[in-house]
Amino acid sequence: MTGEQVRADDRAHVFHSWSAQGLINPMPVAGAEGSYFWDYDGNRYLDFASQLVNVNIGHQHPRLVAAIQEQAAKLCTIQPAFANDKRGEAARLIAELAPAPLNKVFFTNGGAEANENAIRLARGHTGRHKVLATYRSYHGSTSTAITATGDPRRWPNEPAAIGVVHFWGPYPYRSPFYAETPEQETERALRHLRDTIVFEGAGTIAAVLLETVVGTNGILVPPPGYLAGVRGICDEFGIVFIADEVMAGFGRCGEWFAVDRWNVTPDLITFAKGVNSGYLPLGGVVIADEIAETFRERPFPGGLTYSGHPLACASAVASIEIFKEEGIVEHARAIGDDVIAPGLAALAAKHPSVGDVRGLGVFWAIELVRDRATREPLVPYNAAGAAAGPMNEVAAACKQRGLWPFIHFNRVHVVPPCTVTADEVRTGLEIIDGALDVADRYY
Ligand code: PLP
Repeated sequence: MTGEQVRADDRAHVFHSWSAQGLINPMPVAGAEGSYFWDYDGNRYLDFASQLVNVNIGHQHPRLVAAIQEQAAKLCTIQPAFANDKRGEAARLIAELAPAPLNKVFFTNGGAEANENAIRLARGHTGRHKVLATYRSYHGSTSTAITATGDPRRWPNEPAAIGVVHFWGPYPYRSPFYAETPEQETERALRHLRDTIVFEGAGTIAAVLLETVVGTNGILVPPPGYLAGVRGICDEFGIVFIADEVMAGFGRCGEWFAVDRWNVTPDLITFAKGVNSGYLPLGGVVIADEIAETFRERPFPGGLTYSGHPLACASAVASIEIFKEEGIVEHARAIGDDVIAPGLAALAAKHPSVGDVRGLGVFWAIELVRDRATREPLVPYNAAGAAAGPMNEVAAACKQRGLWPFIHFNRVHVVPPCTVTADEVRTGLEIIDGALDVADRYY
């Protein structure tokens, strides 16, 4: 097949997500390996987006591909009510990686379903209905998950589910609390959460749902003490703490689970993406014993035909083994500390349009502004989302030089695979360096 033939079928018959169908021109992808993918005309791209921030192990890892082939030859599918070796092994490995009291895993096909079912678990456990979720968040595009989402992707989906209340999480660079230090940000953000709970009625609130490190809304790393404070408030009011680690988990933050950075133990952790790098659809919820116990005698009211799919679980088992043997989590942390952090600091020193740089592991964002003093964003925050105006030019400049960027509003996210090499990071940052000249022109 040629790229043109692939494109023709696509344009005639594929209905794409989050897109005006007549305004898109998807690139036909012919293959991928490691940190690169390429089209049918031989153009290679350094994947600084890890697709949708999920290919943590890199493309086409041979051992992961072989494990899927092996399982396919043995048993492709068995419905969720049966026990299966790979399903059990994947659940055990994930539970072993999670904080101590989280010992059971409910499998889903992706991140949105994981959040839907975490909310269902919290509601069943508490007998309460409300969910508090943060503005500047993304939790998936199914009913309650998109309602919980605190960004413009929610707007065209309204009215959606009921029972979600939004509150502000910390964002030191653009503090919703007018804080001047990270400590002040933590203190005011926690006071705001407490006030929200008191005025919503603690007895009506099942869960606080938040991304441990906010992903698509800007790589917002929680300031010191924030997550521990949320844990404390949830304990005080008997509220379930759900940490959405769909994007932040499995190596992305240089930890197995991002909460490990702060030694905080949520009641439920949702995961997907990096668990098997999207080689097959898989997600899930890791569940604390106390919540699992609620459903010992009482049935859990939910399920999916493909929950715990043997092929997907076999890929998770292989992926976790490879991560351990190749030290990929440690590599992600080191490459973040030693190569990405100083590289981005150098870009910030050189380009006036760089307002802020933040992140950890292989999870970073460069925030672009028109003016460092006022922090006016290079493009406004609006429903257009992905890339508008000058950001389209920044994206085009990256692509022309062979880098596939992850761009959202006024930010370039630096989110390569966890396996990215130091040389690949340097190559990528050099390309971004060139693209930032475009942003500087608007400064
Ligand atoms: N939660 C977070 C933090 C995400 O980043 C995403 C997807 O980007 C989701 C949930 C939804 O996951 P999925 O697209 O697999 O449903």
